[in-house]
Amino acid sequence: MVVIGILGLQGDIRFHEDILKTMFHKLDIKDGEIVIVKKSKDMENIDGIIIPGGESTVIGVLTKKIGLFDDLKDKITNGLPTLGSCAGLIFLSNQVSDRIVKQVNQPILKVLNVTTERNTFGGQKESFEADVKISGFSDIPFKGVFIRAPTIKEVNSGVEILSRFDDKIIAVKQNNIIALSFHPELSNDTRIHEFFLEMINKN
Ligand code: GLN
Repeated sequence: MVVIGILGLQGDIRFHEDILKTMFHKLDIKDGEIVIVKKSKDMENIDGIIIPGGESTVIGVLTKKIGLFDDLKDKITNGLPTLGSCAGLIFLSNQVSDRIVKQVNQPILKVLNVTTERNTFGGQKESFEADVKISGFSDIPFKGVFIRAPTIKEVNSGVEILSRFDDKIIAVKQNNIIALSFHPELSNDTRIHEFFLEMINKN
């Protein structure tokens, strides 16, 4: 049995739920469960957690407000498999800046040894899709959906680069954490979630 949590305070929660269900079906996993995490207690039985894209400032402030921030940070630091996408990547990072306003002041978990830049490609209007290559995946490209996407400006020790697009780092792995600039739940492709599941199973 595998129980996957999705941080369920704000953002692209439902689409992750949908793609996890598609993946369970595809892999014939009958005892896969999904838990929408809204408080610390919801994390008791999860084997991994997805931090979805959305608005990183809101996710940060809400996790603090409801007292989930410290427990989540502890769990991830202690090895809970974690998949962060877009705002999720920002929230996991050690350091964050913004392309336009530069310095930002928002609650971040500081569990992923990278410096991330918000809004690298611009605002909502500059959102786009692009084929990306992910290290370890087959030659069939992954359709990356970039929505006000961040990129990783600097990686530090222990971080493996999984993908670059336009010379920018857009996917990394550090031990139990996978973090992406784009939204893997919006492509009809379960490979990122399968990769995450493999990580959970190896844990
Ligand atoms: N730019 C957003 C942020 O800073 C992230 C966008 C997204 O998750 N699609 O939180």
